[in-house]
Amino acid sequence: MNDLLPPDSHSWVWLEGVVQRVMNRFAYSNIRTPIVEPTALFIRGLGEVTDIVEKEMYSFEDRLNHEQLTLRPEATAGVVRATIEHNLLYEGGKRLYYTGPMFRHERPQRGRYRQFHQIGAEALGFALPEVDAELILMAHTLWGELGLKNIKLELNSLGEPNERMEHRKALVTYFESHAHLLDEEAKRRLYTNPLRILDTKNPSMQSLVEQAPKLMDFLGTQSSAHLKEVCQILDANSVSYKLNPRLVRGMDYYNLTVFEFVTDQLGSQGTICGGGRYDYLISQMGGKSAPAVGWAIGVERVIELLKDANLLPAHPSPDVFAIIPSSNGIDKVMQSLQTLRSHGVSVQMHSPSVSGNSGSAKTGEADLSNRGSMKSQFKKADSSGAHFALIFGEDELSRGCVTIKSLRDGMGSQRIESLSNVSDWASSLQSAA
Ligand code: ATP
Ligand code: MG
Repeated sequence: MNDLLPPDSHSWVWLEGVVQRVMNRFAYSNIRTPIVEPTALFIRGLGEVTDIVEKEMYSFEDRLNHEQLTLRPEATAGVVRATIEHNLLYEGGKRLYYTGPMFRHERPQRGRYRQFHQIGAEALGFALPEVDAELILMAHTLWGELGLKNIKLELNSLGEPNERMEHRKALVTYFESHAHLLDEEAKRRLYTNPLRILDTKNPSMQSLVEQAPKLMDFLGTQSSAHLKEVCQILDANSVSYKLNPRLVRGMDYYNLTVFEFVTDQLGSQGTICGGGRYDYLISQMGGKSAPAVGWAIGVERVIELLKDANLLPAHPSPDVFAIIPSSNGIDKVMQSLQTLRSHGVSVQMHSPSVSGNSGSAKTGEADLSNRGSMKSQFKKADSSGAHFALIFGEDELSRGCVTIKSLRDGMGSQRIESLSNVSDWASSLQSAA
């Protein structure tokens, strides 16, 4: 679990802004559900024999009322619960998105954390393949807006439950005949959830899994047609993809379309977005039967990709740094700064501060009457990245003026303006940034 500090936190704020714009363009609305839900919700939603439910959930008993609770490991279950609870599909389908922290007790490593963050989108109540394609196009659009290249889309169909049953039989027979090659986890899952074996991360089982019967060969006409239409829409929009018959995803709730966006630039943790259709989850969780489809993006992995590709924006600098040599007249100074801000100018004000590394200086003993020399204030102005220094010297203030000095034109040119008409010159400080 990580602290996120400036300047890095700015990358996240920026990313969230880009996400919001893309969501608006696709007309998805924001939803926020609690971080804690009843444990049973996730067991029921994700499936008992999944990595998450078997070993990754942070669950605890609420000591006050003995409820079993879990920090959400993903948000689809909560979104579905909210959809049912508030009857959100009353008037038809809903397009929703969320961002926020998720919790999984995994071995921490590059691209894998115990508190991580997802951006997710869910389209609930829609059955046609065009909505699967809409969601894929939305993620694709987001990569474009962020400037990310070389992200590959992998696509598969998990078919419908009856098709999965037939495939499951073939899968069990196949794995039984190669029982000596199965690891402990696979043996355990052979009769509970054999499809999950295809999702193994064990390198020594890869070739076994590659030769296994493919679900795609068990699809009926309707399931095949569904996949075909998704592909046709992607083709028409020049979104390239690879059909990957081994793609099964980590939760049990999927049917028909499943997909992942992957990159080879993050080592082994290369999936940055995963999703698919989950037409049976809403009824399985007690709602009136309704189809749905969604995806989730791993924010940490996307940020790392953006960082490696040098695509993260610089931390913003203030337009103006206010140099204030004396506390006399601070009320007047701050009134002017407020006026500047009300005109959209971003202003950082010098104020004497206590340094955490000054060893002997205890907070209580700092001499706050000393605002620091002009020289040290100019140094701070410079490192703030501001384009202008506003110098509120006692001399200027007594004449109702301020000196405006350019910090970025190389010549340090300066001018004097009157504080009685800040509105007239405020915007001249902003546009230069
Ligand atoms: P994996 O196979 O890597 O364990 P998953 O199938 O468990 O992934 P999902 O539950 O589909 O992952 O979550 C969607 C995305 O969230 C993943 O593609 C990944 O980018 C991100 N993600 C999942 N778990 C973590 C984690 N522990 N730390 C950081 N990001 C994660
Ligand atoms: Mg996982």
